[in-house]
Amino acid sequence: MNQPTTAATWALRSAPAVPVTLDLRDFRRVPRSPDEYAALWQRLEPSVVRVNPTAGPRVRFDLGDEGRVAVWFLAPASAPRPLAPDTRFAIRGVLEPPEVRQACTTCRAAGATVYAPYRCYGCSDPADAQRAGRVCETHAVFLDGALHASCERHVPACRCGTRAAAWCAGPLCRGRKAWCGAHLRPHPGDPTVAYCEDCHAERFPACERDRCRGTGYIRCEHLTLSAMKACGRRVCVEHAQRWQVYGPFSRGLVLCSRHHGQLGSTPPEGLIDIVLAGTVARAGGRRGTAASERRVQLPRITIVRHILINTRRSVLDMEEIDRLFTGLEQRLRDKGQGRRDANVTTALRLLGEHRPSRRKDVERFREQHVEGRGYFDLLVQELRRTNRHELAGAVEFSDFRSNSRILWVKVPARLREAGLRDIKHLQRRVGVNINLERG
Ligand SMILES: [Zn+2]
Ligand SMILES: [Zn+2]
Ligand SMILES: [Zn+2]
Ligand SMILES: [Zn+2]
Ligand SMILES: [Zn+2]
Ligand SMILES: [Zn+2]
Repeated sequence: MNQPTTAATWALRSAPAVPVTLDLRDFRRVPRSPDEYAALWQRLEPSVVRVNPTAGPRVRFDLGDEGRVAVWFLAPASAPRPLAPDTRFAIRGVLEPPEVRQACTTCRAAGATVYAPYRCYGCSDPADAQRAGRVCETHAVFLDGALHASCERHVPACRCGTRAAAWCAGPLCRGRKAWCGAHLRPHPGDPTVAYCEDCHAERFPACERDRCRGTGYIRCEHLTLSAMKACGRRVCVEHAQRWQVYGPFSRGLVLCSRHHGQLGSTPPEGLIDIVLAGTVARAGGRRGTAASERRVQLPRITIVRHILINTRRSVLDMEEIDRLFTGLEQRLRDKGQGRRDANVTTALRLLGEHRPSRRKDVERFREQHVEGRGYFDLLVQELRRTNRHELAGAVEFSDFRSNSRILWVKVPARLREAGLRDIKHLQRRVGVNINLERG
């Protein structure tokens, strides 16, 4: 009874091995070593020997979560029928899924090879610096604010240690630092954008005024020649005070409330120093074309005279103001001997360019002085004739502009009202326009 079986067994054993190809294209746990291949085949073999090779060249085996493996019989006709547990097989080839060079690290840990289009630097192998870690579509986490991905484990942490909520695209972080919700502040006009505290302060600085909610877009330009560092305090558009040192039609120097408040008690030399330093800063900031450099100039001394009157109620004549500039130039020249820095050089250039206009203004002032003095005397006469002796004794000549025919006079504050009364009549009698200096 047993004989034929033994004979058949022997025949099978001596029969050539059945050639097959393993098709692993739908299998997720592709073996990586000969041992793993042997282990996989051992799992498959009990099922393989139960199939009929002539029923079709390919047989599929479902391995659940791991996917499917197919076995191709390369020569079904010559295979023993039926296959037996001791049939020998020869694996002639393996069809593997296309190699995924950029595989998700998270998926790989779960035994799957999945294409990962994004980088996760946290997943990078420290031993293989060339190859950044990868993360797949499913496992990629994106925070708001920038298109950097990471896997769940490597979501960046805020400086405080908490998991970050968004990247800060502010001027300091530039999308490279992420912060938690508690350390982000929304863009005032766009709730979808947030910045860290520092970037928010840089981008939307608070106005220096108490309780002002405005953004301090403007910086105080106050500086002095001895320390060419601008105050820089931030002021909103509404609270910015321009010191109109370049006349009424040019942008004056922006000052914070503290520096604006100090002007009145700063001596004329100090005020001229601030004007010169501010002009040097502007000239330096626009370096480039010679034409734009030429446009930055010191204000003419006719304007400076009014600046001094308006800011500190000092009425100086043109010669005195000219001497302030000449004195400043001399001090800079003495100080700059030997080690001359760029600011001193610019200051001396500006002062040099300023000199001819000063000379002209002084000259014209002298001429107008003579003419203006004549009108001034007429004014005083007219005041005495109308019995306004107190005003006649207190009024002072300030300036005369022959082009606009304006006589500037100075009247003490207590007499201003009396002086303004009847001014039309006085103008008619004297024959020129009369303006009262604010002083
Ligand atoms: Zn993945
Ligand atoms: Zn990662
Ligand atoms: Zn930031
Ligand atoms: Zn935080
Ligand atoms: Zn403000
Ligand atoms: Zn300031």
